[in-house]
Amino acid sequence: AKEQGGSMYTIYSLLSQNDEHKQLMLENDLRDALETDQLLLHYQPVIDLETGLLKSFEALVRWKHPKLGLVSPAEFIPVAERSMLINDIGTWVLETACRQVKEWHAVNSDIGLAVNVSIRQFRNPQFPDLVKDVLEITEYPAHLLILEITESMMQDDWESIRIIDEIRTLGVKWAIDDFGTGYSSLSKLAFLPIDYLKIDRSFTMEMLTHPPMQSIVQTIIDMGRNLDMELIAEGIEEAGQSLLLQHYGCQFGQGYLFSKPLPAEEIEQAYCLTTLM
Ligand code: C2E
Ligand code: CA
Ligand code: CA
Ligand code: CA
Repeated sequence: AKEQGGSMYTIYSLLSQNDEHKQLMLENDLRDALETDQLLLHYQPVIDLETGLLKSFEALVRWKHPKLGLVSPAEFIPVAERSMLINDIGTWVLETACRQVKEWHAVNSDIGLAVNVSIRQFRNPQFPDLVKDVLEITEYPAHLLILEITESMMQDDWESIRIIDEIRTLGVKWAIDDFGTGYSSLSKLAFLPIDYLKIDRSFTMEMLTHPPMQSIVQTIIDMGRNLDMELIAEGIEEAGQSLLLQHYGCQFGQGYLFSKPLPAEEIEQAYCLTTLM
């Protein structure tokens, strides 16, 4: 595929986002990306809205494509998910992020880490062992790891619950990502052993511009709290959103108001996490 590089990338730009051909080309390039260090992680802080203190970081994968520049995960994660590549990428993300935050623990041993898990990874029978191995290899404390899954990934089956429980036995926490966008039945929540609900960005965004949305957000927060879950609001860009969310009882938040996702070096500067070694 490399020899054809020149013409390939022109084709990329000519094709529409969902084009089959483009997906295949991205898939080929993605295979190389893992082996040639084109993938990197950015970290976005999650903040305690009441105290303003740092709670954790969410690891978000980035792809520095040699010709295309930065490709969004929204574009390449679905491509990786269609192939088996997502398993290798997911393992790389988990191990790299655990190693990084483990380093930061030398300065602040309370920092948590959230890692996104795709449906393909979650359904991989080896996933629980894999998480266990990564925790052992990196010596990362399990109770400071949060795995994020979306509600649409959870079917009404006992198998999902079993996987969640098995990994939870290690001490790892679980979060439902993008909550409220999955059109799933609410009753599912009653059966899932979940620690955090992440309120989708679309709710946070519309709260101030469309006041009826405030009732919805309030209801989600109340429900989560009644189910003994902690709440994290995504996409907080304005102080007004943060105040309102906190007022409704949402403890944690994440968004550009606090920080966009940043490379590890910039996180170290901003949060004084450089070790003296
Ligand atoms: P997500 O898990 O919902 O991640 C949050 C996304 O919202 C991130 O986009 C982040 O940059 C963006 N964001 C954070 N704060 C704000 C804000 O205040 N305003 C706005 N407008 N956006 C904000 P990003 O990094 O492009 O990631 C997109 C999606 O790609 C993620 O959505 C997640 O579903 C997926 N993804 C990213 N990294 C990974 C990964 O390592 N594994 C898997 N399976 N999926 C990943
Ligand atoms: Ca997430
Ligand atoms: Ca999300
Ligand atoms: Ca999202």
